[in-house]
Amino acid sequence: MRVHRFVTNDLTIRVAAVDATAAVQEMQKLQNAMPLATIGMGRAMVGALLMSSQLKPGQEVGILLKGNGPLGSLYAQSNYEGQVRAYCPHPEYIAHQEEDFLNLKKALGFGQLTISRQQPFQKQPFYGTVEMVSGEVGEDIAHYLHQSHQIRSLVSLGVYLDSYGKVKSAGGLLLEVMPGVEETVVDKVQKNADSQQEAVSKLILAGQSPEEFVRPYLEGIPFTELPHPFEVKYFCPCTPERVKGALSTLGITDLEEMIAQKQDTEVQCQMCGRRYDVKTEELESLKENLRKSSMH
Ligand SMILES: [Zn+2]
Repeated sequence: MRVHRFVTNDLTIRVAAVDATAAVQEMQKLQNAMPLATIGMGRAMVGALLMSSQLKPGQEVGILLKGNGPLGSLYAQSNYEGQVRAYCPHPEYIAHQEEDFLNLKKALGFGQLTISRQQPFQKQPFYGTVEMVSGEVGEDIAHYLHQSHQIRSLVSLGVYLDSYGKVKSAGGLLLEVMPGVEETVVDKVQKNADSQQEAVSKLILAGQSPEEFVRPYLEGIPFTELPHPFEVKYFCPCTPERVKGALSTLGITDLEEMIAQKQDTEVQCQMCGRRYDVKTEELESLKENLRKSSMH
């Protein structure tokens, strides 16, 4: 599975599409995520995969939706090469009311969408932030592209779960209209899109390939596929230093408690589940650093 990229022959519309089922299933397995977090992280992963495929080798896109609802936030990151990962602070969250079991908008609440774009040889990534307009991820990304980059787009992201809450399919498409396009072409695309009844995740479940589910959107407009030969993969580049560093968010009191127990402990990367051993001395030095930084 890889991100497929297409461009119309007049170069005014570009489309990226992906079947990300395996990567989203892997995320759900590693994080033991419940339906709402799975749908949210899954959609963000698909969005990040699609957006990063339009960049250059080595570049990354991070998508952060930060709301005031019980799910807290959703984060996904992908690079041009199709390596993708995701994080949610409350993967275990389940809505109280049955009618809200799949209501991502309600679980996320009101908030902001921030998209970062990292580039090799540049220290600071580029950040853009907009208000969330729907909390369903796809519409929020479309809103961001319009507000921050003046790009009109269609963003369709989907995760399909079975009755046990397990991922059956996941994927989506991102269609972007470039400046200078003929309005008649835009009308044609809009009309094509309006006649699409089925969600992308259902089309993938039915066995359609990215090329097959993109085709109806570009009906009547000649287009070409661009090479993009990277296998999509759930991949976490965590290092012991970074994961252990996260312990400093615990604060001095908690660290002291752990130190007092005089046992080597273990921390787990929340994105991939990998475990790292932490020695008591390491806890001591984390505490010392915290103490120093809290003094000024
Ligand atoms: Zn990790």
